[in-house]
Amino acid sequence: MNSMMKNSNIHCTVKKCKYNMGTENYCSLSEITVGTHESNPTSCECVDCKSFECGDSCK
Ligand code: SF4
Repeated sequence: MNSMMKNSNIHCTVKKCKYNMGTENYCSLSEITVGTHESNPTSCECVDCKSFECGDSCK
């Protein structure tokens, strides 16, 4: 049984993340952390979901 709860406030299309609903483009966490890997972020490509963890496909 899938016990994940969809968080309608966090839209996310990263299906490989273990917290993604999979069937819907939403996160299942109650909150996430967003950060950057750049010293001077200037576009959305510069920022990342720091709550990401790779799901079953990474095992
Ligand atoms: S933890 Fe981040 S990457 Fe993973 S589903 Fe939630 S918002 Fe998406």
